[in-house]
Amino acid sequence: MYVWNRGQTLAIAALLKVARPGIITFSGGAEATADLSGVLADPAMDFVLPGEGEEIIVEAVQRLLRGDSPQAIAAWAQPAPVKDLTGLPSPYLDGTLRPEDYGGALWELSRGCPFTCDFCFEARGTAGTRRIPLARVEAELELFEARGIREVFVLDPTFNYHKVQAKQVLRLIAAKAPTTHFFFEARSEFLDAEMAGLFAAIHCTLQIGLQSAHDDVLRNISRSFDPEDFEAKILLLHQVGVPYGFDLIYGLPGDTLDGFRASVDFAMGLVPNHLDVFRLSVLPGTRLAETAAGLGLAHESSNPYRVLASPTFGPEDLAQAARIAEGCDVLYNRGRAVPWFGMLLEPLGLRPSEVFEAFATWLDTHPVPHPIEAQRACFRELFDAQDDALLGGAGRRCDRVFRLFSGGAGGTRRRGCLAGLPHPLPARPQGAHGRDRGGNRGPGGTGLQRPRSNL
Ligand code: SF4
Repeated sequence: MYVWNRGQTLAIAALLKVARPGIITFSGGAEATADLSGVLADPAMDFVLPGEGEEIIVEAVQRLLRGDSPQAIAAWAQPAPVKDLTGLPSPYLDGTLRPEDYGGALWELSRGCPFTCDFCFEARGTAGTRRIPLARVEAELELFEARGIREVFVLDPTFNYHKVQAKQVLRLIAAKAPTTHFFFEARSEFLDAEMAGLFAAIHCTLQIGLQSAHDDVLRNISRSFDPEDFEAKILLLHQVGVPYGFDLIYGLPGDTLDGFRASVDFAMGLVPNHLDVFRLSVLPGTRLAETAAGLGLAHESSNPYRVLASPTFGPEDLAQAARIAEGCDVLYNRGRAVPWFGMLLEPLGLRPSEVFEAFATWLDTHPVPHPIEAQRACFRELFDAQDDALLGGAGRRCDRVFRLFSGGAGGTRRRGCLAGLPHPLPARPQGAHGRDRGGNRGPGGTGLQRPRSNL
C-alpha cells in the first residue's frame, strides 16, 4: 500500500469482505507501515505487516496456519528489516516475475538510504544500506538482455552513494545489457568524471533530487546544498552527453513563491532533460510530520497529505506554484521542448519560470488542439507582446524552430539525435536567473512511468 493507492486498496478490501465474509485481509508497504494504526482502524483490514515483507509474511502465514487469529497477528507484527539480502530469492531469476509482461523491470540493487531528509519516509528505515550480491545482479542483467527488456528502473534511492559498487554495476551493465535503457536516482555529490563516463557508456537517464536551490530552505528539512558543487557535477554529465532530470518541491518550510521561482530558474539554467515539480506532502511517519505544527505547516490529514499553507507560502502562492509546475510539465516535459526552449527564451529575455506561468495562463484561455500548436501559439503571443520587430524578428523564426524541433524526429528526445546543434551549458551557469540554453537529451517513448519514491 502506497500513499497514492491507499483509498483504492481499502475499498477493494471492503468489497472482498462483502463478497467473501470471513476472508482475511492484510496489507504492507510504505503507507501501511507509516500509518499502521490508521490503516488498522479501517474495518476492511485485519492486520498490517509493516516494514520489509519477505520474512514477516512467511511467519505471518505460518501463524495463520497454526490457528492464530488475525487480531493476534496484528498485535505481534513489528517491522524487522531483512538483515542479509544474500539469501533472498530473485523474483526475476525464479520466474515469479516476467519483465517482458510489463514492458520493463523495476530493479532493486540495494536497500536503505544513508540520508535523513525530513519529508521522506525512506529516512526512517534502517540506518545504512544493504546490497544485493553482485552475482545476482549479473544474472538478472543477463536475463534482461536475453528477454530483450527495453527499460529498467533502478529502485535504489541513491544509486551512486557507494561509488565503487556503483561503478562495478555500471561496468556490468555495459558488458551484459548494452541495449537496455536504465533509469537511476542519483545524488550529485557522489558524481565524478569516471562515473559520468561510465553512465555515458550505457543507455541511461539520471534523476537528481534538487528539491530547492536554497541552502537555507533545505536545511529546514535536514538537507544542504552547495550550488557550485552541484553545477560542477551536472557539468560532468552534460559534457559526456548523459541525460538528466531534476526534482523540485514547492511549499517547503521557509520557502516562498519567489524562492521557488528562483529554484525553477536555477534548475532550468542547467539544461535538464525534464524537470519534475511536486507539492510538498507531509507524509505520516516522517520527521516532517512530527515537526509540521512547530513549523506552522498546515496540510491535508489524509492522503496525499499535501501542504495547504505555511507562514511563508500561503494558499494563493501554492496555487501559483502549481501553475508553474503545470506549465513546466506541459510545455517543457511533455512538450519535449528541450532542443528549442533556450533558443526562444533568450531573445524574449524572460526567465523560465515566467514562461511557464505565461504558458499556464495561456492554457486557461485557449483550447489546446495539439501540444505543439499550443506551444507555437503561446510563444507567438509572447513575441508579439514584446514587439517582435524590436527583437530582430526572432518571433518570426518561431515557426521555423517549431518545424525543426517540435514535430517528427525533432520532437522525439533521443540521445544524440540533435548532435551538432549548439546547446552550450554556460561555463558558469547563471544561478537563480540563469537562462536555459536548450539541449538534446534523453530517450523517447518510454513505456513505464518512473516510479515515485515518497515524494
Ligand atoms: S529523499 Fe532521497 S536521499 Fe533523502 S532520505 Fe529520501 S531517499 Fe534518502
